[in-house]
Amino acid sequence: MHKCLTIMGLSFLVFSCSAQKNSTNRNIETKPKPITTATEKIVEKKHEVVSYKGVEFFKNNIGDITKNDNTTSYGSIVTAEPKGFKVVKTYFPSLAQNFRQKYIILHYTAIDDDKSILALTQRGVSAHYLVNDKEDNQIYQLVDENKRAYHAGLSVWRNDKNLNDNSIGIEITNMGYTVDSIGKKVFAPFNENQLKKVFKLVKDIADRYQIPPTNILGHSDVAPTRKQDPGPMFPWKKLYEEEKIGMWYDDATMKNVMMKSLSTFDSMKDKNTFIFKVQSDLQNFGYDIVPTGSWNTENMRVVESFQYRFRPENYDGVLDLGTYSILQALLQKYPGK
Ligand SMILES: [Zn+2]
Repeated sequence: MHKCLTIMGLSFLVFSCSAQKNSTNRNIETKPKPITTATEKIVEKKHEVVSYKGVEFFKNNIGDITKNDNTTSYGSIVTAEPKGFKVVKTYFPSLAQNFRQKYIILHYTAIDDDKSILALTQRGVSAHYLVNDKEDNQIYQLVDENKRAYHAGLSVWRNDKNLNDNSIGIEITNMGYTVDSIGKKVFAPFNENQLKKVFKLVKDIADRYQIPPTNILGHSDVAPTRKQDPGPMFPWKKLYEEEKIGMWYDDATMKNVMMKSLSTFDSMKDKNTFIFKVQSDLQNFGYDIVPTGSWNTENMRVVESFQYRFRPENYDGVLDLGTYSILQALLQKYPGK
């Protein structure tokens, strides 16, 4: 067996040994043992498996956390149950694995609690979690984290598309926005208890899957021309400050950029080359925008989405000095794709 392991390697060992075990081939001299005790001990000691509510999972990180190899195994292992055979989970947990869950995407439902539950439990749309706006301590789970929910639709961030495939979607009950007499979108606030739930939920998910700050996003970040949620009332800065979650810029860097650009910004801002550069910066940061060198309704929506997120006091979609400086500060802190 030791020779088998050395020569053929671990993966072949699994195949060959299980094949031998169920073979009637008389050329095999001795009845193979399931696994040599030496190998078994090493593997099992390194990757201890514990049982919780009838399912087994690895107790410790089986990846290399120093290389951001996010393979902390958590929760259940879904396993085949082939008739007449036993799938063995404890011997050879591989290091070559990572989580499918790369993103957390926040939404608001734009309808009340009852309607939200109804909408998200029919066919068509769903989310992994729904955070109600009640003064209770409940968060509803609608979809298993290992399964796809239908919440992001056509979506892009950096080099990824169709983020339903690799994200956890969180819907928050909130009435969205109305349009006032001068055409400005007026957004409904979130309540404090609800935000506490969202913060702790996002932190829990981000910690477990080791989701980087650049991948904790709003629906409007990944679908800026279609979506406004969770909108400018969602306190991304507070989430960053209280839970160290998601992206936020360094104020000193932003002010430094602003001071340096103060005297030239007005003369630059309408030049095609400058606009092209800023649009490229937005694209590099992660947004789905094609640099054109001029502003139109569609690419101004990208600026508006950026403002919802990082400069919520004014979200008119116009690239002003403040927006520009925040974008540059963010790119310094979170280099683009
Ligand atoms: Zn949404």
